[in-house]
Amino acid sequence: MRTRFAPSPTGPLHLGHAYSALTAHDMALSAKGEFLLRIEDIDLTRARPEWEAAIYNDLRWLGLSWPEPVMRQSDRMPAYRATLQQLWAERLAFACSCTRRDVLDALSAPQEGAAPATGPDGLIYPGTCRANLSRTGTAPYPADTALRLSLARVAERLAGAPLVFTETGAGPEGQTGRITVSLDEAVETIGDIVLARRDLGTSYHLSVVLDDAAQGITHVVRGQDLFEATKIHVILQRLLGLPTPIYHHHRLIRDGDGKRLAKRDDARALAKYRAEGATPDDIRAMVGL
Ligand code: GLU
Repeated sequence: MRTRFAPSPTGPLHLGHAYSALTAHDMALSAKGEFLLRIEDIDLTRARPEWEAAIYNDLRWLGLSWPEPVMRQSDRMPAYRATLQQLWAERLAFACSCTRRDVLDALSAPQEGAAPATGPDGLIYPGTCRANLSRTGTAPYPADTALRLSLARVAERLAGAPLVFTETGAGPEGQTGRITVSLDEAVETIGDIVLARRDLGTSYHLSVVLDDAAQGITHVVRGQDLFEATKIHVILQRLLGLPTPIYHHHRLIRDGDGKRLAKRDDARALAKYRAEGATPDDIRAMVGL
């Protein structure tokens, strides 16, 4: 068994991160497996070396250890680009120059006022640039624009392939066990996801799928808020011939008002509890471990 904790160094780790990291760590150790750490720093405008250093400090203080060197996504651009080129050459990805405003305008035109539907990749893309699919091929993909995945093309390509994953935790509605991913449903409820953002040259979904496979992760432990995104990850894994790990989505740690903790919740930062004299066991108790 190999699990991982994959924080983004964009703020302090809080109780929710501690719960996730400890759960992944304990799960690996009880199976005599391995716990890995990965730094998800594709967004170089938000990632900061001091937050990365704080992650190492906080996790060591909690009593966790992991093999070195730690994988950092900012070192992985060549792998992401190679996969983008492959999907482009296979005519599954297309260049998209829409801004968020363009997407919103296209979506809200017919029913004024109604909030447009969103899925696990945000607004469901109305297809404005899909005609660019005819312009894909063997030339290098355009790196100065966003690339989207044509889910309709993917559905044709993967027709008949079983898209399933095993959930050993639970989704937000208690989904657990063998979870089937319907491609037809994904076309409607997820849409043409962004594979590469114009500003980042990649995306969370593409990077996480390639990195979990590259690190041989067998069990992905993370918060329930990512349960729906797992459908995107399973689709990408099947498309790229990668194994699908077992997923374990856990409950979210909430503040006193029932709101889930965000990076901005410095009040729940581990460093703050630590400065006030809390021990790692106190943190475990606080998150119910
Ligand atoms: N980097 C992501 C986060 O901090 C983790 C994603 C994952 O575990 O798949 O939310």
